[in-house]
Amino acid sequence: MSKIAIIGAGSVGATIAYACLVRGVGDRIVLYDVNKTKVDAEVLDLNHGIQFTGSHPVEGSDDVGICIGANIIVITAGAKQKPGQSRMDLAGANAEICKSMLPLLLKAAPDAIFLLVTNPVDVITYITQKLTGLPTNRVFGSGTVLDSSRFRFLIAQRLKVAVRNVHAYIVGEHGDSEIPLWSSATVGTVPLHEWAVPGHGKLSVRDRVEIFQNVKGAALQIIQGKGATNYAIGLATAEILEALLSESPRILPVSSLLSGHRDISDVCLSVPCIVNRAGIEQPLAIPMNENEIAGLRNSADTIREAIRQLGF
Ligand code: NAD
Repeated sequence: MSKIAIIGAGSVGATIAYACLVRGVGDRIVLYDVNKTKVDAEVLDLNHGIQFTGSHPVEGSDDVGICIGANIIVITAGAKQKPGQSRMDLAGANAEICKSMLPLLLKAAPDAIFLLVTNPVDVITYITQKLTGLPTNRVFGSGTVLDSSRFRFLIAQRLKVAVRNVHAYIVGEHGDSEIPLWSSATVGTVPLHEWAVPGHGKLSVRDRVEIFQNVKGAALQIIQGKGATNYAIGLATAEILEALLSESPRILPVSSLLSGHRDISDVCLSVPCIVNRAGIEQPLAIPMNENEIAGLRNSADTIREAIRQLGF
């Protein structure tokens, strides 16, 4: 029996619950939020649909006791970006929320895996790892799983192939210093830089620049239009949760504490890792060219600087 506790029943938390219900992820899902009216309303709305999903009813509360015994804690509580704000602008406020919540959550679910979604996710993952002292395989962030799915979608659209046939990662910060790994991207098993199938286009340098700008600018574009991003992060998080609960480990670019990976240590950022029932394994040695490695190190410095500014 798996119990998933989602902390924060805002746009992201409620949509993760919805995605889990629709995909049948988790036996028991609970939502915890300090805003009782909000959490009660989301739970009602979700449960009015379970006839169509066959899942157990979702439970919700403003009492953290609802998280007791959870196998996985998903943290989405906290401030979100307003138009014009970067994710890093949220660091101070969300670090404080994290500091106040973590002792309560650890007490309620001492054996849980902690999956961080709150932004800036790399900074919040690092703080959570340090404050809880949990083994590094049990604390990680959704990282660039979302950015990579945006990347794959945009490449697939240009090349006119299915998204699932494109393999490509965004690594580093889930934010402005993130890096597209063009050198290892493939379509089918054809390296992207060799892709020239008649009728299916070929990416120009200009296409690449545009695609990456669209990946980086996606969150703010969506926030300007509707105030929050929720559907894709809901599905991306459900995919990570499914990997944690299934017998088939998956490779996902999640944010974790690095120690010596490509000479980067003591910072959380995203590189593809195996996600399985125990949490995450060591990052994989995905091929990268010199520019990409330099970009990854620069991204590590950016995140480390933000972490230091918070006194960690
Ligand atoms: P939201 O404002 O809709 O919801 C946040 C919720 O957190 C609110 O309901 C609030 O009551 C609750 N909350 C605040 N403090 C709390 C506490 N101490 N305990 C319990 N609940 C508390 O925001 P949102 O759109 O759901 O976004 C949530 C976070 O997720 C933001 O930081 C956002 O930037 C981040 N996010 C991350 C990704 C990603 O890829 N990692 C994607 C989208 C959004």
